[in-house]
Amino acid sequence: MNRLTQQAQTRLDELLSHFGMNAATPLSNWIDGRLVAGEGDEIVLDDPVTGATLVRYRDAGGALLDAAAEAAARGQAAWWALTASERGRRMNRALRALEGDEEALAQLESVVAGKPVNDCRAEVGKVREMFEYYAGWCDKQHGEVIPVPTSHLNYVRHVSYGVVGQITPWNAPMFTCAWQLAPALAAGNGVVLKPSELTPFTSVVIAKLLEESGALPQGLLNVVNGLGRTTGAALTAHERIAKLVFVGSPQSGRLIAEAGARRLVPSVLELGGKSANIVFADAEIGEAVAGAQAAIFAAAGQSCVAGSRLLVERSVFDDVTTRLARAAEQIVVGLPSDTATRMGPLQNRRQFEQVMSMIDAAVAAGARVLTGGGRPTTLPDEAEGYFIAPTVLVDVTPDMAIAQQEVFGPVLVAMAFDDEAEAVRLANATRFGLAGAVWSQNVARAHRVAGQLRAGTVWINSYKAINVMSPFGGFGESGFGRSSGLDGLKEYSVPQSVWVETAPEASVAFGYGNGVG
Ligand code: NAD
Repeated sequence: MNRLTQQAQTRLDELLSHFGMNAATPLSNWIDGRLVAGEGDEIVLDDPVTGATLVRYRDAGGALLDAAAEAAARGQAAWWALTASERGRRMNRALRALEGDEEALAQLESVVAGKPVNDCRAEVGKVREMFEYYAGWCDKQHGEVIPVPTSHLNYVRHVSYGVVGQITPWNAPMFTCAWQLAPALAAGNGVVLKPSELTPFTSVVIAKLLEESGALPQGLLNVVNGLGRTTGAALTAHERIAKLVFVGSPQSGRLIAEAGARRLVPSVLELGGKSANIVFADAEIGEAVAGAQAAIFAAAGQSCVAGSRLLVERSVFDDVTTRLARAAEQIVVGLPSDTATRMGPLQNRRQFEQVMSMIDAAVAAGARVLTGGGRPTTLPDEAEGYFIAPTVLVDVTPDMAIAQQEVFGPVLVAMAFDDEAEAVRLANATRFGLAGAVWSQNVARAHRVAGQLRAGTVWINSYKAINVMSPFGGFGESGFGRSSGLDGLKEYSVPQSVWVETAPEASVAFGYGNGVG
């Protein structure tokens, strides 16, 4: 067997055993306070570094989903019965259970996702940040009093949904897990979460550690693993699930929203993007190049907010793209376990093949490869897996598929514009609307352009600054609803309006009372 995969398997076995997950047949679900093996078909995961088989586990199957949903309902009843401040204290206490295991979590993610270990360490840090932030919200969901034109006291309280279903992708498994678990708990819900079948383990570990702290009711958090069309579809159809929160591709998002609509259950969709990174000639060009590089090549381009369309004012187009191509060639592409690595492989074969075929199709359509375009040449022989060199394409027209579709890989298309109006028109000329950036030293122009972008997040002279405090989500095919911040919290509760008669004698109206209607 490939030496690198052998090493990865050994490391994975150690890590799964460390978390009590049984390396031989991983216990890949966390249900009602215990680890449970799946009962469905076998799922085989490749080693992203070599393409060889890394580990096998079993799809959850329908019976486990029933158990998870029932456990979540029981756990939620106990959770909701606590005071709000007690819920906040307990979220903070639960978080402490992760202490000492952060490095093992990062290693586990790195081995399975093929993500540079340093990136995974940063992701674990985000788990902490999100729990701390939302724990603080528990006792601050005040509700309000409405000055209604009657003798009633009318107040609004925020009521939890009960059990929510969450579905997450493979590119940021721990980030998206904590991103959705924390506000769901803060608003008083129980959860059944299904991570991507490609990165199943770290969400199980996070739920397990949090619950084993003893701070959360047993069964409050449940993680089921399996394919989208089996376990995922069963989750979206389950009668106990009162709201669906989905992070993934527009294709799957459509199915999730349809499944929700069939049961009249609302959904939040956090989907993909084709974000425009706009560089004006009056920008600080060195910073814009560094920003453009991080915007697309971080996480090997497997990021929803990747700045995958670089729009550059024509007078500096050659300078910017040449500097960017040279910078791309300096990025250390290497093994995820190596701390010097800035870019690892793509996570899976399907994604690798899709990205390669999109590059080939773009070239066939007339695009020119300025750098990259295939496998990097600097890797050890055994690293035959899903690596693609940082790629910059020019001679791209806005109607080409490569300029319209999400690549989700380290591929940047660069296009020139002549004036501000054209920059805005090009930036908005996709079906997506997740993020975008403007680089300019002219303050008025930067704000003017930012205000015209149809994107949920816009940066000025920056890229990828994201924090749990600030709302995040899309326009158009990038989805609807919001995560992070107070807006993200509000997605997890329903306003309930309570009317209390304060008149000495209740005047019960027949029809709409008190002059209304
Ligand atoms: P995907 O849509 O293939 O899968 C996402 C999840 O949906 C997985 O858990 C999968 O098993 C599940 N799923 C698929 N079909 C399903 C079905 N019929 N019913 C229920 N569940 C189903 O996406 P992916 O390839 O894992 O992730 C990449 C995509 O995610 C990209 O488009 C990326 O932009 C997007 N993404 C968006 C955000 C955001 O916050 N907007 C964040 C990260 C990733």
